[in-house]
Order: sequence, then C-alpha cells, then structure tokens
Amino acid sequence: MHVAFLGLGAIGAPMAARLAGRGPLTVWNRTGARASAFAERHAASAAATPREAVRGAEVVLTCLSTSADVEGLLDGPEGLLAGLRAGSLLLDCTSGDPATSRRIAARLGARGIAFADAPVSGGTNGAEAGTLTVMVGADAATFARARPVLEAFGRRIEHVGPVGAGDALKAVNNALLAANILAVGEGLAALVKAGVAPRTALDVLNASSGRSFVSEVLVPERVLTGAWPRTFRLALLAKDAGIATALLADTGVAAPVLERVHATLAEALAELGASADYLDPIRRTEQQAGVEIRG
Ligand code: NDP
Repeated sequence: MHVAFLGLGAIGAPMAARLAGRGPLTVWNRTGARASAFAERHAASAAATPREAVRGAEVVLTCLSTSADVEGLLDGPEGLLAGLRAGSLLLDCTSGDPATSRRIAARLGARGIAFADAPVSGGTNGAEAGTLTVMVGADAATFARARPVLEAFGRRIEHVGPVGAGDALKAVNNALLAANILAVGEGLAALVKAGVAPRTALDVLNASSGRSFVSEVLVPERVLTGAWPRTFRLALLAKDAGIATALLADTGVAAPVLERVHATLAEALAELGASADYLDPIRRTEQQAGVEIRG
C-alpha cells in the first residue's frame, strides 16, 4: 500500500518512521530539510509539495499543529485536493478541533475521499515504540480501512464515534493532563515548603488516591531528575485545553475548573514563550514559590 505522511514534527517523525519499510512511503514537511533528512534515514522519498506527496497514495496521514493548518493544505495548485485521488483515505493524526475536521471531511467526501480524525496519545516515546493510543472519529467502514495503517504506531486503536469525536476525546484528555500538571506542581511545591522531601511526597502520593500519570511518570522522570526534556510544546497543550473548553461551552456544561486550567496555561505560555515545553509550568510554579522539586 502506498502511504504518504505529511508533518514530520516531534511526534509526526517517529510515527512516520514506523510506517517506513512496510511499503512505498512518501513524506512531506513544510520545512523541506526535515523531509529530506527523514528520507535519508528511512525507506522513504521526500516530496516537494503536498500535491506531489499524495499523488498515487492510497492512504495519507497528516500530523500538523492544528486542524486549521491541515485545512490550509487543501487548496491551491500544490495543495492536497490537487493530488488526492477518489477512493483514497486521509487520516488526520493532528490533535485537532471537531468542527474543522467535520468541514474537511465534508469537502473530501464530496470528491469520494474518506476522512478520519485520528489523534494520538502516548508521547514521542510511545510513537517510537509503536504503543500510542489512537482515538478515531469516522464511520465504521472508514475505521476498518484505517485500523491496519494505524497499527504501525498504535497499540490501542479505538473507534470513538463519528468524525470529530476523536478530536473531542483527545482535547478533553489533554485538558485533564494539563489540570494534573498544574495541580501536581502546586501541591509538590507546597509540600517541599512544608518540609516533605519531594521523593517521599511522590512515593506516598503514588501509593495513595491522588496519584496520576503526571505523578507516577512525568514528574519522577523529568522534574525530580532535573532532565526537563522538550517533547511537547506548551503551545500545543494550551491549544488542546482551548478546544476542550470550547467543547464544554458548546455542550452547555459549566466548566469553571477547566476554564481556569486553560487560562493558567495561556498565562504561562505568554510568559514562557512559544518554545516552552508542556512541563515548564511546573518550573514556573517552582520559581514563584522559591523552591525546587528535585531528588
Ligand atoms: P511540532 O511543533 O513538533 O511540529 C509541528 C509540525 O506541523 C511540523 O512538521 C510543522 O512543520 C508542521 N506545521 C505547522 N504548521 C503548519 C502549516 N501551517 N503548514 C504546514 N505544516 C505545518 O508538533 P508535534 O509533532 O509535537 O505535534 C503535532 C500534533 O500532534 C499536534 O496537534 C500535537 O498537539 C499532537 N501531539 C503531540 C504530542 C507530542 O508528544 N509531541 C503527543 C500527542 C499529540 P515545520 O517543520 O515546517 O515547522
């Protein structure tokens, strides 16, 4: 099966790498040097434009920052619509927004091209290991076609509803992740100031009911060690929290907690800048509190 992959960012590149060697793979990236470097390292060829990348492809995957970025690739003489053929399938692995995904699906559907939103969770390590969770919004027939391709990088691949449902679930997931990051940072900073060693605090929390992925994995691996790797931009997490709060507003569900989470991420982003990592708000909390969570 001829596959095209567009968007070789922090998570897109390792996802695309897992598709290499399974059949013909063409890659495209806005910054072309990333696509040529990828093609040198993997069994893939680099295309100069989206149209060229998808020409002849049966399945096309996109993984860009936002749904608006994906929508922006559709038109123009070098755009996706100029190259996609009827009967093909576009899987958008961007953590996107439901309304834009539905609009993209309608435009593609009118040309006989199937679409699924298929955002992922599990981070860059999960992409490398092929253990991502994939949340698919599509009709049943499209999901059945998508699954074997998504298995290249996904371990748990769930059909969660119609187009847009994957985006909605991913946004809520990341809003909950953000809430945990902010809350665990605040709680640990206070415990350090109260005289509890960070390692002890985490060990006890992780044997108690306040534990989470943030306390069990992210803080021990990245904060306690002082490693602070940069794997997921804070700007993207803030984008996801914004999609989630819009969803809550659309559905009429009052969301004082998640709105506060979104506002705090926006404040942190304004202060820390576009290149900040998603765990940097914990560093901001440390600085504001005058403590370090290490050990
Ligand atoms: P990066 O910021 O590392 O990469 C973004 C990618 O999108 C790059 O390839 C970039 O191209 C491309 N891009 C951005 N805007 C445009 C545009 N207007 N036109 C064409 N290409 C564009 O992001 P990630 O790889 O980390 O994230 C990609 C998606 O996956 C996001 O939606 C994110 O929320 C989601 N995600 C990320 C995870 C992670 O751990 N990093 C985990 C789960 C989901 P260029 O190289 O030219 O800048």
